[in-house]
Amino acid sequence: MPARLHSQRVEAIVLRHADWGEADRLLWLFTRQTGKVQVVAKGVRKARSRKAGHLEPFTRVDLMLAYGRDLPIVTQAEAKDVLSNLRENLVLLGYASYVIELLDRFTYEEGENVALYQLLSETLARLNTETKPAFAVRYYEVRLLDLVGFRPQLFHCLNCGEEIRAEDQFFSFDRGGVFCPRCGVKEPGVRPVSMPALKILRHFQRSKYSEAQRLRLSDNVDQELENLMGYYISYLLERKLNTPSFLRRVRSNAGTGDF
Ligand SMILES: [Zn+2]
Repeated sequence: MPARLHSQRVEAIVLRHADWGEADRLLWLFTRQTGKVQVVAKGVRKARSRKAGHLEPFTRVDLMLAYGRDLPIVTQAEAKDVLSNLRENLVLLGYASYVIELLDRFTYEEGENVALYQLLSETLARLNTETKPAFAVRYYEVRLLDLVGFRPQLFHCLNCGEEIRAEDQFFSFDRGGVFCPRCGVKEPGVRPVSMPALKILRHFQRSKYSEAQRLRLSDNVDQELENLMGYYISYLLERKLNTPSFLRRVRSNAGTGDF
């Protein structure tokens, strides 16, 4: 054990945790300062632990981390935003878990990404307070793809280069963007994308959330985008995500697709 541990104060979102040893917990965090990190919280499963309530998934928390030879250790924790609706409402839990899973799958322990931290933090806060969770999540998908280097090309046909006009188009997972109707019909493996759905994606790509909110997302278009983005993201990750089927199940039990 070194005589003095190097310490750092960080702001983080708790992504997930797992039990570790007798009373400890492993935590996966996304920090503003150093991106994704894995840390240990000692003794938090003991009944008297004061840190435990500050370290639940989705929580935004100020932490003191001590660095030794092994994983960093949480020495102080103070929740800034516990986002309790995300744990109490199953549909919101489904959406929030999906948001976390996407971030987790698209990132490695690769260092600071303040823009991504900001997007994650804002999206979870929106889910916790706003009444349109699907809208916040569709926006998140588009912005996340940008920030992790998979921004789809939505303004020019990927084959002929023509500017995309106001009509239904095709989307290519393989090439990462749209094909115009003339080129798309000849291209194997593309999926149709309607003009209203494409309009939302393009708007999300260019706009701040406050501007994007002026758009109306109908249930039909939301469903189309959920499917399209779901397939595209699974294609990019080369494996199926776990959370969408949970989300579909809890949403149908809640009796409505959006609320
Ligand atoms: Zn074309």
